[in-house]
Amino acid sequence: MTDTSELAGGVAIVTGGSRGIGLGISRALARGGAGVAVVARNGERAAAAAAELEGEGHAAHTCDVADPRACRRTVAAVESRQGPVTILVNNAGIARDNILPRMRDEDWSRVIDTNLGGAFNMIRAVSRGMMKRRAGCIVNVTSVIGLVGNAGQANYAASKAGLHGLTRTVAKELASRNIRCNAVAPGFIRTDMTAGLPEARVRELKERIPAGRLGEPADVAGVVRFLAGPEAGYITGQIIAVDGGMAM
Ligand code: NAP
Repeated sequence: MTDTSELAGGVAIVTGGSRGIGLGISRALARGGAGVAVVARNGERAAAAAAELEGEGHAAHTCDVADPRACRRTVAAVESRQGPVTILVNNAGIARDNILPRMRDEDWSRVIDTNLGGAFNMIRAVSRGMMKRRAGCIVNVTSVIGLVGNAGQANYAASKAGLHGLTRTVAKELASRNIRCNAVAPGFIRTDMTAGLPEARVRELKERIPAGRLGEPADVAGVVRFLAGPEAGYITGQIIAVDGGMAM
């Protein structure tokens, strides 16, 4: 298979790049020629992911994206070890589901602080360097749940809808510095996050997906690679659903 290496010379941070959709994104960006900084809380899994990527210039970084100081430290470490960050993919995310009356304060805060706060922390940490260099590309991994809502996911839906507002705002604020910001909104993708769904629920979901199947991490990763590359040079502020048609 021929590959274009359109991202050669670039350095990409992928938060949550050690598993699931994030690992798919790390692999796709590495195949595109970028050096990848795999960021996650579990350092061993991040190191294992970085070690299996194609090409050179990859490294693992331990960081909880909900912690603003840790994000600043991580970006500084990536820049000194791997070079100036050209691509940031905010993929790290968690779910803590419950019906609204029973949702605990800590489950609300943890999901908002990780999914929405984490992206803000990382964008702020890379923005100065990208603005100075007048180049950069940011992709936020959101969810179709942020577009349509979902019973039992008030915290998760609000965090992802917030990310859509953040995406469009960053796109407007940084466009004049040649920095693009887009979002990819996956539907149901086969990862650890969805592995616990009961068989009956998966059958019911498939019936609601025109494509008739759950997505794979590679389905999302290909779109992120496209958005991170030069062929998407005139695309900013967009939210692209990757959901087999589920949220149409
Ligand atoms: P996953 O398999 O549970 O993986 C989550 C990744 O995020 C792991 O690498 C995890 O590593 C990392 N992570 C979690 N909290 C973190 C934190 N505070 N700081 C740094 N890293 C953190 O999840 P996934 O299904 O691949 O989901 C990835 C993204 O896609 C999430 O934003 C999710 O909301 C979104 N999404 C998923 C689906 C789906 O159906 N799977 C659908 C729509 C959207 P550590 O645990 O080591 O930190």
